[in-house]
Amino acid sequence: MTESDFVALWRAFYDKVTAKRDELNQLDAAIGDGDHGTNLARGLGRVVEELKPSGSLRASCRMVGMRLLSTVGGASGALWGSALVSASTVLPDEAQMNHETALAALSRGIDQMRARGKAEVGDKTMMDVWIPAVTALESGAPVGDVAAQAMSSAEATRPLQARRGRAAYLGSRSIGHVDPGSLSTALWWEALAEVVDS
Ligand code: ADP
Ligand code: MG
Ligand code: MG
Repeated sequence: MTESDFVALWRAFYDKVTAKRDELNQLDAAIGDGDHGTNLARGLGRVVEELKPSGSLRASCRMVGMRLLSTVGGASGALWGSALVSASTVLPDEAQMNHETALAALSRGIDQMRARGKAEVGDKTMMDVWIPAVTALESGAPVGDVAAQAMSSAEATRPLQARRGRAAYLGSRSIGHVDPGSLSTALWWEALAEVVDS
């Protein structure tokens, strides 16, 4: 992946989140506080305004993380932001990275999310999408397949009862709704597949 792919990835993710902002808000209204689409769209809007090729994937990834930390807010801002800042530390101070480095960065990012959010697969959070997606990519699945699987993983959160985050306060009333953070994470994988396949 080159730095221009990296820039294109965040632009594509921003477009997808903006297109589904209301749906993400509605999902969050059902099991949370209704701000997930607005939160992410605001943060990503700042990111696409500022993100320009800098010659360093490490610096760019860190910038995206810092911006999401300061502008998204809520649980998802802290998780996305700290994961990206952490992932940036394994990226090269260059404009290009190979597949192994990209995998190492993803793995570092989800370790950070796990450490911070303490959620595992089945808790009805974005980890239900992140963990199996990174595992599939590590075992050699094509990115397009991983993105399709990510969308299925998001849908599979519907029957679950939330055990982490705001939705956990609802107990069994969280059952029957897709987790908003899982859907937005699946959109990130779709954006990645578009950028990497093109
Ligand atoms: P908030 O709930 O603070 O308003 P958002 O609405 O932006 O934040 O994000 C909610 C999403 O964050 C949830 O749908 C879920 O996927 C994710 N989330 C919440 N808590 C955790 C956690 N402890 N670990 C992982 N993901 C979490
Ligand atoms: Mg919310
Ligand atoms: Mg909130």
